[in-house]
Formats: sequence, structure tokens, C-alpha cells
Amino acid sequence: MREECEQRELETLSPLATASAKSLGRLHPEQEHPLRTAFQRDRDRLIHSTAFRRLEYKTQVFVNHEGDYYRTRLTHTLEVVQIARSIARFLRLNEDLSEAMALAHDLGHTPFGHSAESVLDELMSSHGGFEHNAQGLRCVDLLETPYPAFEGLNLTYEVRSIFTKKSSFADLTRRGYASPQSTRFANGPGRILLEAQVVDLADSIAYNSHDIDDGLKSGLLTESALAPIPLWNEVASNAEGRDASIRRHDAVRRLINRQVTDVVRETMRRIANPDFTSAFDAQGGDHPALAALPRVVDFSPEMKQADTELKSFLKDRLYRHPSVLRQMERARRMILGLFETYTLHPEQMASQFRARLDHEPSARVVSDYIAGMTDRFAEEEYVSLHFPESIGKRSR
Ligand code: MG
Repeated sequence: MREECEQRELETLSPLATASAKSLGRLHPEQEHPLRTAFQRDRDRLIHSTAFRRLEYKTQVFVNHEGDYYRTRLTHTLEVVQIARSIARFLRLNEDLSEAMALAHDLGHTPFGHSAESVLDELMSSHGGFEHNAQGLRCVDLLETPYPAFEGLNLTYEVRSIFTKKSSFADLTRRGYASPQSTRFANGPGRILLEAQVVDLADSIAYNSHDIDDGLKSGLLTESALAPIPLWNEVASNAEGRDASIRRHDAVRRLINRQVTDVVRETMRRIANPDFTSAFDAQGGDHPALAALPRVVDFSPEMKQADTELKSFLKDRLYRHPSVLRQMERARRMILGLFETYTLHPEQMASQFRARLDHEPSARVVSDYIAGMTDRFAEEEYVSLHFPESIGKRSR
């Protein structure tokens, strides 16, 4: 079954796709599964991981308990998976690989979104810093421990490469983010696989559109504030529906569709360019990752411009909205407090983290513990460690 599946990939996928039969493999050698390809197996490992389940209770933009209708990191991730699969399928890239990468892409995020990430980075400045992509690799290589024979999920090199957005494997290994066995891939490719490029774009398409959607629904954004943004104006003026909520949904649907269609068309145009294909053939070798080629999955120049406008609008009007900033400031204080308390009293951490203190610097262990928390757990911990008297009062 697996062999048939692998064969079908080789026959039907684009020569630019990453075929599972050509995977560079795993950190710890394992028997292949009789049915599933290597990337299908990675997808399943990710779905069953603890870090994946916790995404349900982590903030995207709106703090988790603000409303049941807003996106969380889990629903964001699922939207990214869906968009990535569509793009990968249209481009005849490896859908399973894109799916697994998309499921993994936000695993390293802290509770409370970006404000917590930046405060953790400041606190960790003399201990190698903190960055969610790097932390994602730490999660799948070291912190998830469901298997008896090794630490981590033992994912393939290709799926793990989604975390090398900001730094190379060599750099991440040196800074303690990757399993020490990672040096096996030290001479690995320097280029981002096309399936990872797809996930990057899908991530951006998903959050642009759902942040507008949630922003409008929450009332933090208004249709009139958005009107000067040409791309929004275009989709909103074509939107149909008998009431504002259906029209908003229709506009968001059109926005996703416009962006996905643009990526597919632009990428097909670039791939068809003989200069690209000959460079790919010359450098590609057996594994497409072995080629050091420029990014090819991308928006057209016009859409790139529209995307930049949309992002800077969201940054000014939504991510810096006073009520979002207020939550961020609260989050900042909680992370600072938790970090300080666990540093002074490591015995307050969960046992599997205390056990890591034997072989890892305490700042890193504390940062792992905090980064893995859900919004709710971080808040409860903060209150119970710093204001124990308020707990009794609350329950009375
Ligand atoms: Mg994301």
C-alpha cells in the first residue's frame, strides 16, 4: 500500500514536488509504516500531539475567553491546512507534506500571542532568545515525548524544515532548539521546499482574512475604516447577501479566493519560465530541496502590494487597537511574573519540566514551560502563585 502510494506520487506530482519516497528521513531510524507514507505518518503524529491540542486554548488575536466565535490558534491552523492543501493540489505539489507542515507551523507559539513571545524573547536575551518558529522545532524534537525509544515526535527532515523560516538547522541545533541528532542533516539543503513556501502563503492568506472577519465581528474594525483598502473595497463591493453578516462572510470568502487564485496563477507562471526549470534541473538533483533556488510560490506583484496594504492596516487598526493592547499588556505582566516565580521556585513547575533541569539551563526550561501553556492555564497559574488569597474569595 505505502509503496503504491509513493509510486503514485512519483507518477502524478510535479517534478518540483517533494516525493515521500525521496525523504531524507528521520532523526532516529524507524521502520516505514506498511500503509502510510512518511509524510502521512508525520501528519498523524502531529494531530495526536499534546502541543497540537493546546492550540485550541491559545490566543490568535483575541484572548481565548473573549468570545466563543473568534479564531484561536487551532482554528487558524485548520484554515491554514485547508488553504495550503488547495494550493498544493493545484500546483501538483505534495499535499500530505503541506498538510503536515501547516499542522505544525504554529506549535511553538506562547499563550496570549505575540506580546508574550516578545516578553519571553527579552527575558531569554542572554540565554539564546525566544522565537516561535525555533520553539516549534524544540517542541517536535524534544518536548513532546510520547515514544519509549526517543525524545520528540521523530518527524521527517522535510516536515521539520517548516521551522527553519528564520534560522538554519545548523543554527537552531547550535542554540539548543533542535535535537542534537539534527547534525545528521547539517549539510542539508539551504532552500525552503515548495510545500513550505505554500504553507507560508496560506498562513498569510488565512490570517489576513480571518483577522478582518473577527475584527469586523467584534466591532474593533468597521467597514468604513476598511473601505480605503483597495483589495477589501473590491471584494466588499462584489459581496452579496441579505444582511451585513452574510455580506461580510461573502466578502471574506472572496478575499481568500482572490488571494489563493493569485498565488496559483503567479506560481504557475514562474514555474513555466524556462530559466527556472533549467536552474531547477541543474541544481535539483534527486531531492528538490537540494537546489538553492529563489522563492517561487508567491503573490503577483499587484497582490503583494495589496497584501502589504492590508497587513499594515491590520497592524495599525486591529493589532494596536486599545482593547487589544490592553490584553497584551495584561499578558506581558503575567508572563513576567510567571518567569520570575518559576526561576526562583522551579519546584512549582510540572514534574516533566523539573526533570529537564538536570540537563538543561533553568531559563530554557522555564521558557519551555511557559510557552507550552494555554491562555487559561497561564492565567490561573499567575493568579494562584501571586494572589493566592483571591482564589478563596472567588470561589465564595
Ligand atoms: Mg500561523
